Amino acid sequence: MDESSLISHEAYGRDIVGVLISRHRIAARLDELAKCITETYPEGELTIVAALTGAMIFLSDLIRRLPLRLRLDVVRVSSYPHRATASREPSVPIASAGDLPGRHVLVVDDILDTGKTLELIRGLVLSAGAASARTCVLMSKRRDDLPARVAADFVGFDIEDQFVVGYGLDYGDLYRNLPDICLLRELAGGNGR
Ligand code: 5GP
Ligand code: MG
Repeated sequence: MDESSLISHEAYGRDIVGVLISRHRIAARLDELAKCITETYPEGELTIVAALTGAMIFLSDLIRRLPLRLRLDVVRVSSYPHRATASREPSVPIASAGDLPGRHVLVVDDILDTGKTLELIRGLVLSAGAASARTCVLMSKRRDDLPARVAADFVGFDIEDQFVVGYGLDYGDLYRNLPDICLLRELAGGNGR
């Protein structure tokens, strides 16, 4: 656990037990990730399809590091209704990305757990006629119980199977505005499964 960065949001009082990944580590890793992504698209054009809402801060920090001719679309997927901390079947996106035929697409999400969300969006993108569909997540959870899970093409951080909030990720719609990836006191040591 990274204790070096201060939790700046007093509004959350003692809800947060600690910082797992500080804003500084996130920023440094995004520089590396953006370099890898940029090198993967030598044609210099990319369409990003991102899953809202959790990925929005990651997305906004990532795309400003990509010196590409970049198009952006978003889909809204919900797999954690209300205060659930174990993933459900992701529901069908409310909005779907248009103008994808022939495009090279990168599907972006905040975190990979069972992999169902990314696979759902990736399938939609490919059936819309994209030339390629790769995937990128800020975090990937270790799930030894799911050996057949599909990996993401670009991963910021591999983490243990624990529930995280902050930097866009919520619990019960709160905590998205925390600048660091944090662990909740209420859920520390468990994942709700
Ligand atoms: P999957 O479909 O891979 O099982 O679940 C991925 C989705 O579940 C992510 O887009 C994210 O919304 C949510 N999710 C998975 N793990 C966590 C977590 O630790 N914290 C939060 N806030 N959301 C999570
Ligand atoms: Mg999500």
